[in-house]
Amino acid sequence: MKKIIVAIDGHSSCGKSTLANDISHACGYLYISTGSMYRAVTLYFLRHDTDIKNPEAVKKALHNIDTDLRVIDGETFTFLNGENVETEIRGMPVSNLVSQVSAIPAVRTAMVAQQRKIGENKGVVMDGRDIGTVVFPEAELKIFLTSDPNIRAIRRYRELQQKGIIAALQDVEANLTQRDHLDSTRTNSPLAKASDAVLIDNTNISREEQLAMVLALMDCRMKEG
Ligand code: C5P
Repeated sequence: MKKIIVAIDGHSSCGKSTLANDISHACGYLYISTGSMYRAVTLYFLRHDTDIKNPEAVKKALHNIDTDLRVIDGETFTFLNGENVETEIRGMPVSNLVSQVSAIPAVRTAMVAQQRKIGENKGVVMDGRDIGTVVFPEAELKIFLTSDPNIRAIRRYRELQQKGIIAALQDVEANLTQRDHLDSTRTNSPLAKASDAVLIDNTNISREEQLAMVLALMDCRMKEG
């Protein structure tokens, strides 16, 4: 069976990782959360007091960072230099800095190179902000996900609660608004819908309906090639 690249982009907390995970399980595709990679880099900068305004300091730090996504019992975990940092990268300190870090050109260059390498054999579903526009502009299927901002904040708040991370709903909401603004207005690879991406608003559709829709699209794209 022909393998393709599925690129999923969209605002923060609109369910990209849920959809990507569902596709990965349904098709046996590798799931890469590029946001986790930017979060791991941010955690490293926080831990090492890296001055993100100093390009030399950033360049030096990037040489010491190895990010890795590992699947354990069907779930993906983010590793930073061999340490499982999956819980820590979801907390507010990382969430509050990640959009500034991901706007740094040297950081994007390093991450995009890794992402392209991972996807070179296809059979991959990757989510982020610039996957359909910059990382894989030739991806066979591009999805741009969106949903109601209030629903997104509540979803993220519940997700954090489930992971045992304490955060106030209003802080979660403020963080999403701030990240969406920074991610959409930055000069380098801003969050944008690729002209050939399929727009899905999942505010009023179930997880199962969303997956069925995307599997049908994948089927079409595989037959087209
Ligand atoms: O997907 P997630 O919400 O974990 O992403 C965290 C942050 O990483 C985003 O708010 C954005 O600043 C950055 N990011 C990015 N490009 C990507 C994926 C994530 O700039 N492809």
